[in-house]
Amino acid sequence: MHVMERSTNLQRLQNETFDLCIIGGGASGAGCALDAALRGLKVALVEKSDFAAETSSKSTKLIHGGVRYLEQAFKNLDFAQLRQVRHGLEERHLLLRNAPHLAHPLALVTPVFSWWEGLYYFIGLTLYDWFASGRDALPKSRWLSGKETLRRVPGLAHGIHSAVLYFDGQIDDARYCLALVRSAAEAGAVVLNHTEVTEFDKDGQGKIVAARLRDTLNSSPGQQDEYLVSSRLFLNCTGPQADHLRLLANPALSKRLDPSKGVHLVLQNDVLGSKDALLIPKTRDGRILFAIPFEGKLLIGTTDTAYHNGTAEPMLDAGEVDFLLDGLQPYIAQHIGRQHVKAGFGGLRPLIASANRQTKSLLRDHEVERDPDSGLLSLLGGKWTTYRLMAKDAIDTVCEILGNHTECGTGSHLLAGAEGYDADFWKKIERDYGLETDISQHLTLKYGTRAESVARLATGQAELSERLLPAYPFLKAEIVYAVREEMACSVRDFIARRIRLEVTDWQAALDAAPVVAELMGRELGWTKETREKELSAYRTLLSRFRDSAGID
Ligand SMILES: Cc1cc2nc3c(=O)[nH]c(=O)nc-3n(C[C@H](O)[C@H](O)[C@H](O)COP(=O)(O)OP(=O)(O)OC[C@H]3O[C@@H](n4cnc5c(N)ncnc54)[C@H](O)[C@@H]3O)c2cc1C
Repeated sequence: MHVMERSTNLQRLQNETFDLCIIGGGASGAGCALDAALRGLKVALVEKSDFAAETSSKSTKLIHGGVRYLEQAFKNLDFAQLRQVRHGLEERHLLLRNAPHLAHPLALVTPVFSWWEGLYYFIGLTLYDWFASGRDALPKSRWLSGKETLRRVPGLAHGIHSAVLYFDGQIDDARYCLALVRSAAEAGAVVLNHTEVTEFDKDGQGKIVAARLRDTLNSSPGQQDEYLVSSRLFLNCTGPQADHLRLLANPALSKRLDPSKGVHLVLQNDVLGSKDALLIPKTRDGRILFAIPFEGKLLIGTTDTAYHNGTAEPMLDAGEVDFLLDGLQPYIAQHIGRQHVKAGFGGLRPLIASANRQTKSLLRDHEVERDPDSGLLSLLGGKWTTYRLMAKDAIDTVCEILGNHTECGTGSHLLAGAEGYDADFWKKIERDYGLETDISQHLTLKYGTRAESVARLATGQAELSERLLPAYPFLKAEIVYAVREEMACSVRDFIARRIRLEVTDWQAALDAAPVVAELMGRELGWTKETREKELSAYRTLLSRFRDSAGID
């Protein structure tokens, strides 16, 4: 089913009238597109960059009720916050169930330095289990002895007394978003990346009736790069950039968001030497720090600082590298330094402003706003974990306005690749297509049962069955699949969001780029000049990342 074909979708956007046009293809927008399409609405989804290019590919990748929020809720006797923890845990269950290839349980070890500290976290995490009880089958929390802790996490410093082990969910955030987009498209939504909303057209009453779109890929002179999409309603899902769209629709509105920057540092995984993650409940300045295995590396995060650079991509800087290394060092046996750094990335939390609070204590919650003058709907705030609930609330409002009485169907809807999936599916790929074990496992974890389509491409053409890089399980066939079935349009779309290499290993990303450009170029009909421009732009970007982080 060619639902991700750019030129067809571009034509449809211009020629059809929609019930709902969703602006922004991150977790919120993709979740809304699926929900609305499943309810039978005629949906358009436009994204100015790539799907999940912004915050939704730069999270800690935890699907959680929020252990910290539970602690705050009890300390402040805040029942609203308790409800949020419960919602998060309910959603955790659905998120894992609806795409088990992309979301799985993650064991987190919380090291403590004394008996009473262990008791405190054991009680807290047992309560956390209790709040989730009956909804999912994640293992319960356990108090581990010092010996058992070191056995599970050999890289830990030796002064540790014991640890409390608990479970949450982990996702591949960008690929989860891509699965949502694909599922929405298969349910009938017309989706398009690299398409920016630049202006709204209004009727005599000042209500938005159409949006002007700019093709951000083909904006060279002589090429048509402006289009119009008509829709009954427009839903702003632009995350941290939501105020920009709100003010574009109605300059009289006041700003609602107060985005905060969060960065992650990526280290070699031998620093911990474990499949388990580490939760450090209190760094020197009182923040939580995570060290999480992801794609064979270790994500260290995160920070929480105000951000005033508008739409510029947030990057990891040298001070943040030191801050995160310093926060982690007391828990790690070996000395950790810049030589362990493989990559890093920054994102912006789309926090709703709350006067008189510091960013680190703001709550993550969401809101559906309707501007009565322009008619623009905005989905504000939230987190990855609650994307489905956020979408349900937003599309309930849309349906109320449009007089549509259908119920939300996303709670039980399996995402693309989850149909017929089980944890042994990789064995079928290995057996039927003769692929090596690590490749079969990788394909199954990223594409679910759709791994068969990638494997078929690989076995159909010798060149495509080759590895992209010797040390990684990525196949060249994935490049072709990403262009044909996942709307990848640039080298970065593939390396950052489709295979996640930019997030985990800058040097490997650079090494892979020429082959990616070559194969993408063939699929997309790039000239030699375009291919070289692509490559050079990508190399420049990675140099900027390295310079900003102070990494050679
Ligand atoms: C450091 C960090 C760690 C986090 N960790 C977690 C976590 O572990 N668990 C969790 O549950 N949540 C976490 N979050 C929160 C979560 O990542 C976000 O809440 C979520 O990804 C926001 O999704 P979104 O779709 O609202 O925004 P985005 O992902 O930013 O999507 C908005 C999209 O709108 C597009 N856009 C903007 N303007 C236009 C326009 N004019 N036209 C078309 N498109 C436009 C952008 O390009 C962007 O892709 C974290 C966030 C950060 C920053």
